[in-house]
Amino acid sequence: MSEETEVVVVGAGQAGVAMSEHLGAHGVPHIVLERHRIAERWRSERWDSLVANGPAWHDRFPGLEFSDVDPDVHPDAFASKEQIADYFVTYAEKIGAPIRCGVEVTSVRKRTGRPGFRVETSRGPIDARFVVAATGPFQRPVIPPIVPDGAVPVQLHSSGYRNPERLPEGAVLVVGAGSSGVQIADELRRSGRRVFLSVGPHDRPARQYRGRDFCWWLGVLGRWDAETPPQGAEHVTIAVSGARGGHTVDFRALAADGVELVGLTASYDDGVLRFAPDLATNVALGDAKYLELLRAADAYVERNGLDLPEEPQAHDLGPDPEGMADPRLELDLAAAGVTSIVWATGFATDYGWLEVDAFDEHGRPDQRRGVSSEPGVYFLGLPWLSRRGSSFIWGVWHDAGYVADHITTQRGYLAYGTTDRPGAAPAAWKN
Ligand SMILES: Cc1cc2nc3c(=O)[nH]c(=O)nc-3n(C[C@H](O)[C@H](O)[C@H](O)COP(=O)(O)OP(=O)(O)OC[C@H]3O[C@@H](n4cnc5c(N)ncnc54)[C@H](O)[C@@H]3O)c2cc1C
Repeated sequence: MSEETEVVVVGAGQAGVAMSEHLGAHGVPHIVLERHRIAERWRSERWDSLVANGPAWHDRFPGLEFSDVDPDVHPDAFASKEQIADYFVTYAEKIGAPIRCGVEVTSVRKRTGRPGFRVETSRGPIDARFVVAATGPFQRPVIPPIVPDGAVPVQLHSSGYRNPERLPEGAVLVVGAGSSGVQIADELRRSGRRVFLSVGPHDRPARQYRGRDFCWWLGVLGRWDAETPPQGAEHVTIAVSGARGGHTVDFRALAADGVELVGLTASYDDGVLRFAPDLATNVALGDAKYLELLRAADAYVERNGLDLPEEPQAHDLGPDPEGMADPRLELDLAAAGVTSIVWATGFATDYGWLEVDAFDEHGRPDQRRGVSSEPGVYFLGLPWLSRRGSSFIWGVWHDAGYVADHITTQRGYLAYGTTDRPGAAPAAWKN
């Protein structure tokens, strides 16, 4: 015997909670299955000091302010990872989301000779007409196979990093200069470590400009709505930080604080790491994007006659740090005292449990705005699912609305002929 429902949502991170809200608003019966706890990744798969990259007024769902959950979170502040997890738990309670925690989905297969899917779980099977994969954009940590095991005492992915005290004494190489890499490198340096930071291509908008956060600027300039990633960027590579009250990621400032910058980590041989000679180019490209956003912001202020204080000093990048043009290309790990490498090199998806025809020839979700090539199967939370904002807290909420609309429309078609009003969902399908 299996349980039956209309929609099974797999995963109760922000995507699963948002999906539940929209399905509930449409009166669609559904169950959300979460193998651990609500918003587990914020709770236990991030480093201790992580705070949101966007201010609380922006990085939230429309229906609830952070300060309604925790009065200590000012709208302009950056919520801690625990406050973010608490926010989603409260949100799920507020909307009465039918979430079952501690239930892992082990497979989803098409039912034979009948519509819908058989969802096998650690607590028994469930049959559903629709399945939404809301298991997150960042499922499997990716470490490029460059440095062999044992070459340094510790190699770990940024998702396994917690705090400086948990690493053995000694210097640290942080590979990757997106939001995770720069924040971890900064924290390690401030704890007194010798730190090397391997810098690849990135975008680093000013945290604040003319009194407004970059989230506001990207919003009014329509950039969160960009539908295609910049060339070569498959996921959002914005290097920003809400740490220490929020500040602009600035590689010159990191270098001035003693972080030793190098280019992309290229190869390893007999204890020696080699870096590409691209540090100056990568930083210059990031600078160009930074300055372009300031100019776009200035044009917006002028066009709209806004009374926002001028900030000419923000356009002055200052001199390049020593070694920028002629960076270190080799690092003898033992000689430099490197005992740990933190790979802040991103994540891959893992849909091994989803055994349906919803993937392209490269194994990537074959979908448009979350609607997959397998009728009845949907994806949510992926970077650039519909636009730049898709994997962020507020963006996933809007994408979930689209997916719920799509499911509701399909239910209308499927109900044709089953009621006296063509296109209406039968009463039995309502909550
Ligand atoms: C370091 C870091 C910082 C970030 N900071 C921000 C930020 O400040 N602001 C912002 O908007 N975004 C931020 N993001 C991006 C994004 O908001 C988070 O990655 C967020 O966790 C994604 O939410 P999600 O619901 O899509 O996926 P997840 O949070 O990954 O949730 C998916 C859930 O699915 C569950 N699951 C997986 N497989 C199964 C299965 N087979 N059966 C049952 N359950 C399963 C998991 O346990 C998990 O709880 C950050 C990401 C990272 C990595």
